[in-house]
This record gives sequence, C-alpha cells and structure tokens, in this order.
Amino acid sequence: MRASVAVLGGVGEIGMNMYVYETEDTAVIIDCGVMFADYTYPGVDYIIPDFTYIREIEHKLKAVLVSHGHEDHIGALPYFLSEFNVPVYGGKLSLGILAAKLGSKKEKLNLISVEARETVKIDGFSVTFLPVTHSIGDTFGIYLKHGSFSALHCSDFKIDYTPVSGEPFNEDDFAPLAEGGLTCLLLDSTNSQNEGFTNSESSIKAELKDIMRSSPGRVFFTTFSSNLDRLRQVIEAAEELGRKVVLEGTSIERNVDIAKKIGRLEIPPKAVVQLSTGKKMPDNKIVYIITGCQGETQSTLYRIASRERKDLKVEPGDTFIISSRVIPGNEKNLNRLINLIYENGGEVIDVAARKIHVSGHASRGELTKMMNLTKPSYLIPVHGEEMHLAHMRKTAMKTGLFERESVLPVKDGMKAVFEGGKLVAVDDIPHGAVYIDLRGRTVIDEELLKDRKSLCRDGAVSVAVLYSPLYEALETPPVVRVKGFRIDDRTTFELRKYLSDNMASLIEEAGGDYTLLEDFIEKLVRRFFRKSMDRRPAVSVAVVEV
Ligand SMILES: [Zn+2]
Repeated sequence: MRASVAVLGGVGEIGMNMYVYETEDTAVIIDCGVMFADYTYPGVDYIIPDFTYIREIEHKLKAVLVSHGHEDHIGALPYFLSEFNVPVYGGKLSLGILAAKLGSKKEKLNLISVEARETVKIDGFSVTFLPVTHSIGDTFGIYLKHGSFSALHCSDFKIDYTPVSGEPFNEDDFAPLAEGGLTCLLLDSTNSQNEGFTNSESSIKAELKDIMRSSPGRVFFTTFSSNLDRLRQVIEAAEELGRKVVLEGTSIERNVDIAKKIGRLEIPPKAVVQLSTGKKMPDNKIVYIITGCQGETQSTLYRIASRERKDLKVEPGDTFIISSRVIPGNEKNLNRLINLIYENGGEVIDVAARKIHVSGHASRGELTKMMNLTKPSYLIPVHGEEMHLAHMRKTAMKTGLFERESVLPVKDGMKAVFEGGKLVAVDDIPHGAVYIDLRGRTVIDEELLKDRKSLCRDGAVSVAVLYSPLYEALETPPVVRVKGFRIDDRTTFELRKYLSDNMASLIEEAGGDYTLLEDFIEKLVRRFFRKSMDRRPAVSVAVVEV
C-alpha cells in the first residue's frame, strides 16, 4: 500500500498552508489557509492555494482536518468549502472561528469538533489530535496512520510548560509515536533561525502590568486578535491595577465572544465595560484593547491614531502598547501610525522597548526536542521561506537522527510517496496561487494580476478604431486615450500615424476577424510605448464597425 503527503501551499512562503495525505482510495487535507498580500499585489487582499489538484482527486476526498484557528491555516476554507462539501474536523475554538467566517453557509456543512487526544477513523486513516501549545488555544499536532504509513503533522507549535490557558506541553503525547516507527514528521520551520527555546506566553504579564502601572493616562493595547491568552493577561493585569477594559474592533470583539461561548476564555465579571462607560471613567482607570497591531487601515488603532474617529482619538498622555511582531511588509504602515501617535502627544511601547511579545513558534531547541521525541524516518520541513527551511535542515542534521536524503528538499507542489515505511517517489502536482480581491469577492488570475501591476506602474492606454468594411478602411484615424501618465501632442500624432500606416496590412491579416484585429493592434500599441517611452501600459483596444 502506497501513501503520500503533498504540499499545496506553505512551503517557500509564510501562509497559505495546505497539505494532502492520500492513498489509492482516500484523501484528507490538513489546513487551508490564506497568505496576506503586500503592496506588490495591487488590490489583492488574500492569496489562497490553487485547488486544481483537489479537483483531480475529489472522488476520494473524505475530510479536512484543522490544526488551529489562525488565518494562515483556515482562512481559505470558506472558498474551499463553497466548492467541496466534506466534513471538517478541528478543535472547538478553530471551528468557532471558522463558523463565524462561514455565516449562514455553515448550516449546510458538517463541522465536527474534536477533543485533545481524540482519535477518529476516516476510511483507512486513523487520525489522532495531539494537543500542542501555540499562540491560540485548541492547537493540535495531527497524527495520521494508514497501514505501514504514519505521519505527525506538527503544524504551528511551541513547547510551553507554563501556558496561560489549556494544558502544558506534554512529551508523553509524542514519545510513543517513536515506538511504532514514525514514517515522517512535518515540522514548523517559522522560527528555525532562533537558538534555544521560545519564551512562555505567561512570561509577559508582569511586564505588561508594569507598563500599565506607570502609564499616567489611558492605555491602548493591541495584539493579534486571535491571541486570547494575551488578551486574558491584559484583562487580568488591568483588573489587578483597578483599571476597566473596553474591547474595540470587530475581530477582537468577535473572537472574545466565540471563546467565551465555548468556555475557552473566562473574563472576571465587571472587568469589561462598554465604550460609553469607559469614556466617563478617569483616564488612569481604563485600558482599551483594540485591533490594528499591523497598522491595518480599517483597524481601530489606525482610526484612533489618525484621529478619524469622532468618539475616540489619541490625546496627550495616552500610552499605546503594540504587543506583536510586525509582519514583513507592514513596517511602513505601522511606522506611520507610531509617528502620528507621537505627533499628538501619545507614547508608544513596542517589542523593541519592552518584553511584551513572545512568539507562538518553536525555536531550534524545541524543534530538536520534537525530532528526538518522535524519531521519524523522514523529516519534511514546512511553514517557511527558503531561509527558514534551510535552518530547519541544518537543525535536523545536527541531531544525528537523519541521513542527508532523509530530510526532504520540499517545495510547494511536491508529493512524497511512501511504501513500506520508505520513500519511493517524489512527484510534482499542480499547484499555485489564486488572488482574492474582497471587493465583490473577485478571484484574480495571473493575467489579471499582471494587468493590475501594469496599471499601477505604467498606466493604461485605450484605443478605439472605427472601421468601415464597405471601404475596407478606417473611418477616422485611431482615437487614443491614456490614464496614469501623459503624452504630448507629438507622441499622440506619432502613435496614430504608426497605427494608420500599419492598419491596412493588419486588416488584411485579420481577414474580418475583429477580435484578432484587436489583438494585432494591442501588440502594436505595446511595441510603440515600449520603444518610444520604455513604458509597458495596460492596453485595451476596441474595433467598432461603422
Ligand atoms: Zn498559527
């Protein structure tokens, strides 16, 4: 019996995680996440994996398994589930966050919540959800077994022996996997460049409390809105200092609501008050927990710092605690906000100044520990860009557990096939990215994205040609309009002449096919701008019969 693991996203990039475990007659997917688009993807909000390969194996697809509720692991599921209606297994919190995204569509879907250490049978696969610590609750390492094949899909994790909520990391959950012989371990490479161990989430509360104590006025606190343990520590510290808390921002309010409902977050009674109540309280008695730690333009932090909001604006004496790392690409946005806060008399405390953030990902010490605990025959580094994967390979080789060829050189589109516990083939499968523009939930393909990039960088040209079949000639010289740059009269004249001079031969070549004629003209216009202005605008051509 052959079994395989394939990567559809999450290797070579941070985000867009999606993996397929497959035998001849069964397939299950682990995670289906988004990657956030930066300024190099104009008008794109999310990037999601291409589902082409899933369409090829749809007949044997049995389930999606969710490792945890972060966007880069579940964010693409609403798109996936609108096409493939299969059961989704995951922790209560992950499914709660997913259900909120799905809205009324969830009624038609089968979301099955699992508990820590629960084993479910999915056709020939036996799947066990092993609890790990991370920066969100209900995170699992997923152990799959099918005949002689076994895999531990150790998605995002860290080893935290003193977590804020949930149980501490328990080595006894993982050591038994080595006894049965683990075929492959898929391991989170995100922090593989860091030596040692990642600090515990609970290590930052004292620091947070100290900052709040010494803040003279209002405190505004922001972090990733799914980090409920961080929010809990802020709420507790505020209560201990006699400050009330106001929650402001859609995603924070929603996540707190979900976690409270399923018993994953306990908030002391009267600790949280409404904005209207908070505003009446003395400045040194209030903490606002707000969205926007990455400087997002729709976030509460952005609107407060830029003084866009009427009811809540930055004032002299305010302290802003930004308790998160900056995702690469967001630095400029966030810097702008920090400057705005200072400009208006506020103060900012970030991770550079105080120890107010710890990562949710394992450093080399924890990665080595997980390899030693589970002793896999093969290691498949996942989650990370090339440098993270390279550091993971180096870390693996240092353990002495692996031959060089047992640490797979993995990339998106790789399908590793195993038989009898041995790697027997490495195949390529269709893979790629799909770009999502949230306005109108538009899907943008590579060609449209190329157009958008051209539009941003080089502007647009439209050309209208009025053609008379009767005289087999143009009615007037071509009409040219440009957007995003300017051309002088002489260039316009030259372009029109260039088109008119070539038109007779193009018309003949197109043989009455106007679409073909438009293509020919488009190529000509492109060539003209490339040669005359070294510019590559988006070009649209309309041939109108008169
Ligand atoms: Zn995560």
